Amino acid sequence: MPGNATRINLMDLDLVRMQEFFVSIGEKPFRAEQLLKWIYHARIRDFAQMTNLSVQLRRRLPELAVIEPPEILREQTSTDGTVKWLMGSGTGNAIETVFIPEIKRGTLCISSQVGCALNCSFCSTGAQGFSRNLSASEIIGQVWQAAESLGHERNGTRRITNVVFMGMGEPLLNFDAVLPALSLLRDDLGFGLAAKRVTVSTAGLVPGIDRLRDSIDVALAVSLHAPVDDLRETLVPLNRKYPIQELMAACSRYAAGKHKRSVTFEYTLIDGVNDQPEQAQKLVKLLRKLPSKLNLIPFNPFPGTQYRCSPQWKIREFQEIVMAGGLIATVRKTRGDDIDAACGQLVGKFQDRTRRSERLGQLNSSLQEHNLVP
Ligand code: SAH
Repeated sequence: MPGNATRINLMDLDLVRMQEFFVSIGEKPFRAEQLLKWIYHARIRDFAQMTNLSVQLRRRLPELAVIEPPEILREQTSTDGTVKWLMGSGTGNAIETVFIPEIKRGTLCISSQVGCALNCSFCSTGAQGFSRNLSASEIIGQVWQAAESLGHERNGTRRITNVVFMGMGEPLLNFDAVLPALSLLRDDLGFGLAAKRVTVSTAGLVPGIDRLRDSIDVALAVSLHAPVDDLRETLVPLNRKYPIQELMAACSRYAAGKHKRSVTFEYTLIDGVNDQPEQAQKLVKLLRKLPSKLNLIPFNPFPGTQYRCSPQWKIREFQEIVMAGGLIATVRKTRGDDIDAACGQLVGKFQDRTRRSERLGQLNSSLQEHNLVP
């Protein structure tokens, strides 16, 4: 049997691509629907158990394909019920996925890249740097693994009702892998989530926003964090390339696009940096003409950061000003703090330790090779 390198991972394929695959091996396109149901509804990965495929196809598929999500390397549960998984292939570069249970919904926060290239000054993933893009199977596979681990049933209590691309990475910089994953989240043959329950969060990549609008119907969240360019540049360096005015124009195009979705703006409140009443007023002016919602996020500190979270009273004051100005604004509750699962705290720490011990292991064996240790 050939190795994985020559076999296709069926988790990389959405319906259209899966149909192409079956046609390319001389099978009928409807096999794709059967396969998707086995993978995402029944969560069966073993071809031998796929009883509605012909015996011959069941024997042939293992030679051509695998069904492989990223492996769960570690699972942690917070005192508030938040669950965080470290996933990866075990060969380095782990990613983090977080489940946030609430009374009426369960939100899964997934990663799109290992690390991030955008270097936002208040985000610990940014401080870690960029390693690589995830494949579609590594993206949708996070949802598959989380569902499996939570015992996901269509009506269960720990049900994944929403998926947000707010973990590690900038999803619109990994568009080609994110798109099939979005399509599998939306497709009834996949996870069957409504458009408003799948959110792509971006630091403001203007061409990506337009491409998303033209490609699929999902919700858009934009990480704004400042109402003016000079401040936004210090927080989100990408603002130098796509300043606020251009970003707002792209958001208007998105909201006016064929799916008519209002845009959510994320605004992380950092003490003394972007939480002043004048900044709240400017934000009102900037957003008031756009169909939008504002999500205020208390800054989550991480080791080495110079920023602090705004005090409660300032967060409330900021919210009151923007609401008085006519915006719809909510304050995000910090969840999973005790297991470093909150926004901006995802860095694949466990993997760092693993890599360190791997490196130490390598060092020791090379020292031994050269007879440098007793
Ligand atoms: N790259 C995408 C998605 C990942 S970040 C984006 O920028 O939107 C997901 C959200 O968490 C973003 O709004 C980001 O600005 C916010 N965030 C990052 N670090 C944070 C921190 N330390 N405290 C609070 N929110 C943070």
